Amino acid sequence: MTGCISKIQPFSVYDGPGIRSVVFLKGCSLRCFWCHNPETQSKTPVMAKYAQKCISCGECINVCPNSQNEKTALFTPECTVCGKCSEVCFAEAIEKIGKEVTSDEIIKILLKDKQLYEESNGGVTFSGGEPLLQTEFLYDIMSKCNKYGIHTAIETALFASWDKIEKLVPVCDHFICDFKTADNQKHSEATGAENGLIIENLKKLAKTGKLKEVRTPVIPGFNDTDEDILAIWNIVKSLEKNIKYSLLPFCSICESKYKSQGRKFLATGIKEPSKEKMAELNNLLK
Ligand code: SF4
Ligand code: SF4
Repeated sequence: MTGCISKIQPFSVYDGPGIRSVVFLKGCSLRCFWCHNPETQSKTPVMAKYAQKCISCGECINVCPNSQNEKTALFTPECTVCGKCSEVCFAEAIEKIGKEVTSDEIIKILLKDKQLYEESNGGVTFSGGEPLLQTEFLYDIMSKCNKYGIHTAIETALFASWDKIEKLVPVCDHFICDFKTADNQKHSEATGAENGLIIENLKKLAKTGKLKEVRTPVIPGFNDTDEDILAIWNIVKSLEKNIKYSLLPFCSICESKYKSQGRKFLATGIKEPSKEKMAELNNLLK
């Protein structure tokens, strides 16, 4: 079976227990204005250009089937994301992000680090984007991970129908779920979707015993007041016991990703929360 991924990142220590490889699947049904991985939002590949690497050789223009006025079609409606420009760019200034791969190809890569997973009590995490959107593909890879004894985790916003989540519960050891705000209207404005389905899924998933972590990205001006965090915490603590809850500070480093993909970063100008602010909110939870 095949699916679309943006990359496989080895040696992660932030995406579940131990040392892990993270497979980033493409496609997401939410549009959070601060999204750190904009290249994963679309379910198909996207183009990126790193202007500082360009040596102005003009090769990309020569091969672009839709070039006009001595320019490639990059970031215009005429661009078909064929990737020809990236293939001829020796300076690696253009990249096609995303490719169709088979589950066997992924497993072959993951198995190279199997010993590392075992020694660190780690494994493989499927992230995105929203991995639940490629349920069948994910089920196929995770079943193979199970067969090889590799610990599996999914990072998800849980904005999906329950039947998709339910299918993955038997093959996933560890669900890590994002929960952004308990305020439905704010959730809707910031992500493009209401939070009712997410809360319902959190409750159902908690009952399976596989919901191990809930995380909140702390976005200044959106969900960083004591009231915001306590409202989320009240929902999390009403779920099953032994679910780890943590706060992740907003990070503005992703702004350059938007620029390279010819997109506007909607969270521009928002400052990262200070260490003191994060400590205050964490103390509140204690
Ligand atoms: S092929 Fe690469 S280096 Fe040459 S002009 Fe195009 S982007 Fe720049
Ligand atoms: S991806 Fe294809 S169509 Fe788009 S700019 Fe590059 S060569 Fe042209």
